[in-house]
Amino acid sequence: MSTKCYFNGKFTDIDNVKINPYDLGFLRGYAVFDVMRTVNGKVFLLKEHWDRFVNSANQLNLKIPVSQDEFQGIVEKLIEDNGLNEINIRTVLTGGVSNNAFTLEGNETFLVTTEVFRLPHEDVFKNGAKVITEEYKRFIPTAKIASYIAAIRLQDEKNKSGSIEIVYTDKGKVLEASTSNLFIIKDGKIITTNKGVLFGTTRNLVVDLAKKNSFEVEERQVKMDEMLNADEVFLTATNKNIIPVIKIDDREVGNGGVGEITKRLMEIFDEFLKNY
Ligand code: PMP
Repeated sequence: MSTKCYFNGKFTDIDNVKINPYDLGFLRGYAVFDVMRTVNGKVFLLKEHWDRFVNSANQLNLKIPVSQDEFQGIVEKLIEDNGLNEINIRTVLTGGVSNNAFTLEGNETFLVTTEVFRLPHEDVFKNGAKVITEEYKRFIPTAKIASYIAAIRLQDEKNKSGSIEIVYTDKGKVLEASTSNLFIIKDGKIITTNKGVLFGTTRNLVVDLAKKNSFEVEERQVKMDEMLNADEVFLTATNKNIIPVIKIDDREVGNGGVGEITKRLMEIFDEFLKNY
């Protein structure tokens, strides 16, 4: 059975989607996107994702052809039609067809697709994961721009090293990972950057949950040597929840095991999901 999607105003099978070769998304990578998930069969953090999508679109001068309410209706119908349990909902907005292959002509392409939602293997939650680092800063980092060239080019290296993520660094500062945000913990303080990154919906939720549970949280620039000397490090993302990091390149984090504060935050996060 083919999967249903929403493409330029209509629900259709994904096999019927035709992208014009002069679409600026295809041709120039001129596009934004966002990925949500369901939790207990319900869309998770729709408002937060929508606000970020609007912000991404605005930064590229793209007009979203539907309202938030219409978007919610589209997503709910896709959840129902696909009949899957937990899914990812991927929303893409491109510059659309351009006759001179350059100028925005106001006919944005808008596509909403779904995929089965899968978390990484349970081992990484229990025993922690390895990451590699790369000197790289995403273009317009606060927008979720479709171009993930650095991430895709490094997939082979990441996989060969047995890593779960690529952590981007910029002149001695730690930014984010290829599809996640990064937190460090030092002397009981939970620290994550607030500059030069995409504000992850999971990141923002973890900051809130940590504060509500009386942890001290700092949102500020994080230096590379702070990350390398942290007691604990973890990643957050829609497709990861919270994943403890135990190795960065060839260096162990803290005592090389999953830290106690990370474990506690994972429990708090799981509880939040259970009750959503
Ligand atoms: N940074 C980047 C570059 C990402 O692609 C993602 C995944 N959307 C994140 C951070 C984490 O965002 P979220 O928690 O909303 O999935």
